[in-house]
This record gives sequence, structure tokens and C-alpha cells, in this order.
Amino acid sequence: MKSLNKVQSHLIAECFNKLYIGGQFVDAIDGEKIPTYYPATGELLHEFPRGKANDVDAAIAAAEAAWVEGTWAGMSAAERAEIVIKMAQGIEDNIEMLAEIEAADVGKPYRQAAMTLGGAAGEGKYWCSLGKVLDAEQDVPVNSGGGEGGVPPAEWDVVYRRDPIGVIGLISAWNYPMNVAFRKVAPALVAGNCAILKPSEIAGLSCMFIGKLAQDAGIPPGVFNVVTGDRDAGAALAASPSVSMISFTGSTLTGSKIMGACAPKLSQVALELGGKSALVVFDDTDLDKAVETTMKGFLANGGQICTAHTRLVVQDSIEAPLLNKLKEELEKLPFCNDPITEKDRGDRAWEDGMTDVVQPVVCDSQHKKIMGFLHEAKAAGVEVLTGGDVPDDATVGNSGGYFIQPTVLINVERDADVWQKEVFGPVLSVRSFSTEDDAVLEANSTAFGLASTVMSSDPAKAMRVANRIRAGAVFATSTGEGLLAEHPAVSRGGFGFSGVGRELGIGGLHEYTELKSVNYTGFSLADTKKKHTG
Ligand code: NAD
Repeated sequence: MKSLNKVQSHLIAECFNKLYIGGQFVDAIDGEKIPTYYPATGELLHEFPRGKANDVDAAIAAAEAAWVEGTWAGMSAAERAEIVIKMAQGIEDNIEMLAEIEAADVGKPYRQAAMTLGGAAGEGKYWCSLGKVLDAEQDVPVNSGGGEGGVPPAEWDVVYRRDPIGVIGLISAWNYPMNVAFRKVAPALVAGNCAILKPSEIAGLSCMFIGKLAQDAGIPPGVFNVVTGDRDAGAALAASPSVSMISFTGSTLTGSKIMGACAPKLSQVALELGGKSALVVFDDTDLDKAVETTMKGFLANGGQICTAHTRLVVQDSIEAPLLNKLKEELEKLPFCNDPITEKDRGDRAWEDGMTDVVQPVVCDSQHKKIMGFLHEAKAAGVEVLTGGDVPDDATVGNSGGYFIQPTVLINVERDADVWQKEVFGPVLSVRSFSTEDDAVLEANSTAFGLASTVMSSDPAKAMRVANRIRAGAVFATSTGEGLLAEHPAVSRGGFGFSGVGRELGIGGLHEYTELKSVNYTGFSLADTKKKHTG
């Protein structure tokens, strides 16, 4: 395929074929490779290094050496941000190439990839803008005036500092490769840490470019490293006694394994995990808006979004008309058989609320996993409103791609796997409710708590219900606008199975620091600023 050849011509560059350790591009010690395929056709896209525990150890040693040497941590956060911002600019300057790579690697329409890569660059700049904020948080007097119950007592003084944590591991998922990875890399570096990035083996090619961005920006050798590899490389990173924090985005199961690996050494974890978000629709919502929002909620990026709204909780009085319209709209949707060249369609959801094309899922193993959910659901008697299978070859223009029909399962039991587990594909499960209390009960009926949306034209009701939903990011809307939206300054994260810690905002930067108090006696803070003359 011509479009694939073009992407492969980008992938000849050194950074897409080597690990980045100690400021150099190097081969994996054992020389093994991992193949990756174009989701739309199943053709081989590229082979990249399978880094193993020995490569991870080399990257940790490089990061430790840089940490001990201390130049990076010794700079102010604003000085570090001046360097990291060049990396963010590098994403922006290379959006076209990176979007073609992500389209080929993940199977997402080029248009959507380009849009979200622009978001990654913008967010990177936001992290850099926080450099000054972090500097202003250094040596802040803890001052309640002393006296009874006050801090500090009269005889000594205290300041707070926010120190970097040390050598940290960044383990990322594949659904928005650059966005997920750079959301870790930028704050970790601005905060002064030395880091090793382990991108996903399923689709992580664009993340390999971050090594080149670091080299070009002048990040000192060893401060930032990239080791591609599979779960064994991730496990080696998490278990290393030299790694003081793991920032992880991925599945709940892996998150819990990482927490287990970090427990014996009591190292920090920040875990952004899976979701099973509910879209709650009250009967006073405009029907067309409700259908649009439902489609966007479960189909954007092929349903492969942690915050995908894959459970529809609809008021019984509008269930039938909503489902009829949803079925009609879904069955009209075309498939995207060459995401690399898809420049006009592809998640207009992000801009104007429309879902206009169905992309393939990322790989054969995810395809099998999703189809396994559907086979099991059907065998258990779950009703399929629409979809439920792979499209025929003629519909998608070839037979090798990992396509699945947009699927709606109705009257789903609350304990069914398709209600309780993250499918991570284009599959929506539906239950109805009659009262406001029932709506809350349904929305809160899984162990996940990442996001949720309440639709109602009654603002008081929308906010009342939103406030009772247990999730890290909740939207209350009468139009569907804002669904799945995020802003770099707004912290978010998960309740329960959806994670530990918060990303984004100043709280997201603080995740990469340790709060430290320094007590001092016998001199004033002003004395510490005097130049040493002896
Ligand atoms: P995954 O858990 O299979 O893999 C994620 C990363 O962990 C990969 O780099 C993988 O190699 C590594 N890994 C696997 N086993 C490991 C182990 N034992 N120790 C250390 N590392 C290990 O997840 P995935 O399939 O890549 O991503 C999809 C998941 O990510 C979904 O559950 C999705 O909801 C979640 N996600 C969450 C967010 C969020 O912000 N909450 C964002 C994007 C994706």
C-alpha cells in the first residue's frame, strides 16, 4: 500500500530503530525485534527493538549517573522548562510525520492523530509554564506565626521545598501514544527527575521520537532514556530498587501488578488506569443530541479511550426512541479503510460532536479480546441491537484489517462482563432507569471510576446527579458538549479500579516531586542567600 510505504520511509530514521540510553541511540543488547502491523490491513508496518531487563538496567544506570552528577536537578525548574519546551515545539514541528506514524501504528484517522498530537505539544508547553510556579514553591516559609499550636515554634524556622524524586520509570499505553507518554515525560523532567520511558509494544513508535527530541533539545545525557520492549521490560523497570517512582498509564490489571512490584521498596506510584464510564441520559434531553453524544462517547478513537462512555444509562421513557435512532445512525457509518490518508473524516467528534467514521481496532490480540467479549455475551443471551460481529470484507475493502462493527448490547444484566469489564473497543452496553436514585445506582455499579456524563436540560438535576457519581472527572451537560474533553490545567484521575494519583494541573506536576520541610535555626533565610566569601 502506497500510504504505508510513505510511513515506512519515516521509520528508517535511527530513533525508530534503536533504544535511547545515556544520550546515544544504541541497539538492544540481545538484538531482538518486535513486529507491528497496520491495523487497517494487517500488513507489517515496522520492527523495533525488544529491549529486555539488561537494556532496562543500562538505562537505569545512565539515569542514576545523571542523577548523582546532579546538573539537571540542580537547575531551576524554569531553566529546565526552557529546554523541555524545545521538545514540545519539536512535536509541533513534526506533526505531519508523527500523525502519519500514529495513524499507521494505532489505526486512527490521520485527522484525529494530527489533532491530538497538537494537543500533546500544547500540553507540553503548559507543563513548561509551570516551571516558574514550581520555583516559587521552593523555600516557602511555613509560617503561622508561632505561639500555641502554631508552626513553627518560636525557637526555629521551617521552609517547604518540592524536590524531584530521583530516577523514575514512565510506562505508557498505546491508544494516544505521544499524548500519554509526553504527559509523563514533560512534568517529570520539568520537576527535575531523571527518567526512563517504556512505551507500549502494541503501538509506541511515535514515542521513540521523544528520544530524538530530547537529544536535539540538549537534555543532558542520561536524564532521559527510552527503552522499547514488552511487558518484561516494564516489569524490570518497576521492580528495580534504583527506580523511586513509576508513573503508569494502562490497564487496571497491570496497574495492580506494578503497585505490587513497588510495594516491597515502598516506591511511589501514579496509576492512570481503565474505565467503564456511564453516560446518563434523562428524558428531558434533546434526542438528537443524546444520540450524537452516545455515539461519540463509545466510538471516538474506536472506543479505545480510557474515558470512553461505554455504558448508556437511559431513562426508560425515552429508551425506545433513543435506541431506534442510535441504531439507524450507527448502521449508516462508513469504515475507515486507510487511516493514514484519512484527512477529512475521523472523529469530528472532537470538534463538532459528530462521529463520522469507524476505525479498526489496534491489533489482532485486541480484536480477538473484543470479539471474545461479544461471543460470550451472545452465548449468555445478551440482546444485540446492532453490530456484534466483524464487517464483511466488501464493506471494509480488504480482509486483513482488525475491524469490528459498532455494537450496541441492550437489556444487559448488571453483573454481565460487558457491563462490569473494560472491553476497550466499539461496544456499548445499555441499561435503563426510572428514578434519579436508580440513575445514580446504575452509574456507580462498577468498580471503575474514571469519568461519567449526565445529560439533562434541568441544570439542577444534572449537577445533583453529577455530584453523586463516583468518578474522577464528571460532566454535566444539556448538549453533550465537553464530553471526553480535558484541559491541561484541570487535574484528573480515577476512583477505585481507575487509578491512584492525579494527572494534569499543578497537582499533576506535584506527583513528580516530594514535599520536604527544612528546619533551620541560628540564622535567617536572608543569610542563606549571601554569597560565600571564604
Ligand atoms: P497494558 O496494561 O496492557 O500495558 C500498558 C503498558 O504496561 C505497556 O507499556 C506494557 O508493556 C506495560 N506492562 C505490561 N505488563 C507489565 C508489567 N507486569 N509490569 C510493568 N509494565 C507492564 O495497557 P494497554 O493495553 O497498553 O492500554 C490500554 C489500557 O490503558 C486501558 O485499560 C485504558 O483504559 C488504559 N488507559 C488509561 C488512561 C488514563 O488516563 N486513565 C489513558 C489511556 C489508557
